Amino acid sequence: MKKITNKSNNISQVAKYIAAWDSFILIGHEDPDGDCLGSVFSLGLLLKNLDKKVKVGLYKPLNNKYSFIKNNLELDYFIVEETTEIKEDTAIIALDSSDSERLGPAKNLLQNHKILNIDHHIDNKHFGDINYVSPDSAATGQIIYDIADYMSWDINKTIAYYLAVAVLADTGFLRYSNTDRSVIQMIDQLMAKGVNIYEINRDLYGKEKPKNLKLIGRALNNLTILEDEKIAYLYLEKKDYEELDANFEDKEGIVNYARDIDNIEVGILFNEEDDRVKVSLRSNDYYPVNKLAAEFGGGGHPKAAGCGINLDLKTAIEQVISKAIELNKEYRR
Ligand code: 5GP
Ligand code: MN
Repeated sequence: MKKITNKSNNISQVAKYIAAWDSFILIGHEDPDGDCLGSVFSLGLLLKNLDKKVKVGLYKPLNNKYSFIKNNLELDYFIVEETTEIKEDTAIIALDSSDSERLGPAKNLLQNHKILNIDHHIDNKHFGDINYVSPDSAATGQIIYDIADYMSWDINKTIAYYLAVAVLADTGFLRYSNTDRSVIQMIDQLMAKGVNIYEINRDLYGKEKPKNLKLIGRALNNLTILEDEKIAYLYLEKKDYEELDANFEDKEGIVNYARDIDNIEVGILFNEEDDRVKVSLRSNDYYPVNKLAAEFGGGGHPKAAGCGINLDLKTAIEQVISKAIELNKEYRR
């Protein structure tokens, strides 16, 4: 059941890298999600328990949605800025990020430091000195669990909690097609350490702010269904966020409404930001949305991907939908 045996991955390189350094900075991708945060904090604590010096670098304070993670923080974080410099003797571990561009300001830290890149995106750009990429893993948190298991590192209750947050977030709470027996076995092991998955369910999905529900309402008001093409899309304008005093992070999960419609294969959410349109893509069955994202410089998983487009909202919608329709003709079964 272990996914660690994947030949393209070399666990002994990871072991050597960790043994070779005393100080680590752990970073993840922009707009960090549950897998990213759960991975960064679980690996951080695992390394701390090996008596390593560990710092976690984020570029924004933990937002409302993930502030629950703070209740468990046994490892603090600092904010990475464009100008942040770090000591020479520090190694960097990048987690859950397919591409150094996705690291935001933290990508500046990559110069002159040794990088270990741990990720589960199939399109990972192998930007590290050591790249531990396992696309078969449901979450980056699952890779960390497998590494910890392989190395016989102790997983205490707090670490188990972060690992569970990571895997539950990326599997849609064990509902997505990446939920296999190895995931269920992992969750079983974490529950044996005292993790309460009902609490995590409440933390992740049961504490919506009313303004976020209104944001969902606005997006649903803009629902367009292209039934013959099996595509449904939503959009949110900058003014929607302004009028509701909502944060950009609050959009997480809204794209699922478009995907979860009967007879729809691809769901898309267009988000108007200051200088770009952020596009979230999801699919149900046959359509590899990472291929569509790649047409616009983005990427991701076959069933969950995204990209940022430097065009106005209307043009971005036209271009993405037209490409989406074209690719649907190719992939449709
Ligand atoms: P979301 O729609 O939740 O922002 O992103 C879903 C997934 O798509 C992410 O986990 C990530 O794998 C991928 N993704 C989203 N935006 C980008 C992007 O701009 N570039 C790349 N390479 N991947 C992205
Ligand atoms: Mn992930």
